[in-house]
Amino acid sequence: MLKKMLKMLKNNEKGFSLVELMVVVVIIGVLVAIAIPVYNITTDRAERGACHANQRMIEGAASQYAMNTGKSINDVNDLNEYFKNGTPTCPSGGTYTYDIEDGKVSCDAPGHYHYSESEEESEEDLSSGGGGG
Ligand SMILES: [Zn+2]
Repeated sequence: MLKKMLKMLKNNEKGFSLVELMVVVVIIGVLVAIAIPVYNITTDRAERGACHANQRMIEGAASQYAMNTGKSINDVNDLNEYFKNGTPTCPSGGTYTYDIEDGKVSCDAPGHYHYSESEEESEEDLSSGGGGG
């Protein structure tokens, strides 16, 4: 069998034609063009979910702080001792601000806001997510 393959290689020394190589390159390009936006959407959604989980934890810690000290926090970094690794940070690089009046933590990264405001928005994203591209 090996001899037969070597014989075929010797007889047909040309290999792939330029058109065959170009077709392969175009197919790979189309696959990458589809994969990159899907990857970005998935990453954004995961980061937003992690950010909203952080907001919930910070709000819980802020109410614990208020119960322990009898006063409200000035800054989310006042809560460092309530978390093992310090106050959580937004995975997209946003900064958290604490609203003293309603006790809500919001993020300034685009699309993050507060978890109660953006839940409806994320459901819309899920329903329209497949149509893009
Ligand atoms: Zn965020």
